[in-house]
Amino acid sequence: MPEQHLSKAKLILVDQDGVLANFESGFYAAWQAAGHPHPALPLEQRRSFYVRDDYPAALRAEVEAIYTAPGFYRDLPAISGAVEALTTLLEQGHDVRICTSPLTQYRHCVPEKYEWVERHLGAEFVTRMIVSKDKTIVHGDLLVDDNPQIKGPCTPSWQHVIFDQPYNRQVEGTRMNWANWRDVLAL
Ligand SMILES: [Mg+2]
Repeated sequence: MPEQHLSKAKLILVDQDGVLANFESGFYAAWQAAGHPHPALPLEQRRSFYVRDDYPAALRAEVEAIYTAPGFYRDLPAISGAVEALTTLLEQGHDVRICTSPLTQYRHCVPEKYEWVERHLGAEFVTRMIVSKDKTIVHGDLLVDDNPQIKGPCTPSWQHVIFDQPYNRQVEGTRMNWANWRDVLAL
């Protein structure tokens, strides 16, 4: 990331799954509970951005059944430190928006993403949600996202800060987590 001192208020886009909501632990627990013979992959063994790509192709339907099930998105735990960090960023005067790309199988995913935000961040934060399949058309100064390669038709106005996860470390870039975000973002 170029030299940047964020002395002024910034428009900060923050992804939801894998940054705020712990998709990985939710999937792991649900896969174990389903009793599939194929073992659940621990987070540290995940290598692909999409969880379906880390399980055998023959299990694709079983994998998708986990995260398209009612309640899956609603009940994801929060990633440690995320709620505190977003609250702090707002208190510092930054304009924080949650920028999330929903599943194409939207029926449960989309409303439950809103429920999740209300539950963990409060009703005011629901007004800060941007649900878009394409994040390149969304304006912002920064985008904190665990997807290491965000593609779309537009040249983004935001700088991408990769939210560090074991499955995105093959890509170079500025990265942060909720333990070091103050240093990385230089706010
Ligand atoms: Mg994500």
